[in-house]
Amino acid sequence: MTGKHARKKSNGMKDCCFCKGRVSEQKVKVDFRWGHKLKIIENVPAAVCQQCGETYFQSEVYKTMQKLAASRKKPAARLTVDVHRFRQAV
Ligand SMILES: [Zn+2]
Repeated sequence: MTGKHARKKSNGMKDCCFCKGRVSEQKVKVDFRWGHKLKIIENVPAAVCQQCGETYFQSEVYKTMQKLAASRKKPAARLTVDVHRFRQAV
């Protein structure tokens, strides 16, 4: 995944603005970074480029994710995440 972009327009999602690939509506799992916390949000409606995998979110969807990430409500599930620091294998 190369990045996430919020888009204002909710309709007229036809092709990817990077590679012009076909974009289709999908439910995705998002690794959402909030401060230094990592939240994983599942079932997020997004438009995903079938060619390069770029993911586009509608701005309302993005706002909802931010709200979810900021909320103190008990999450649906909790995972432990291993963090690795990149190191060139010699
Ligand atoms: Zn693309």
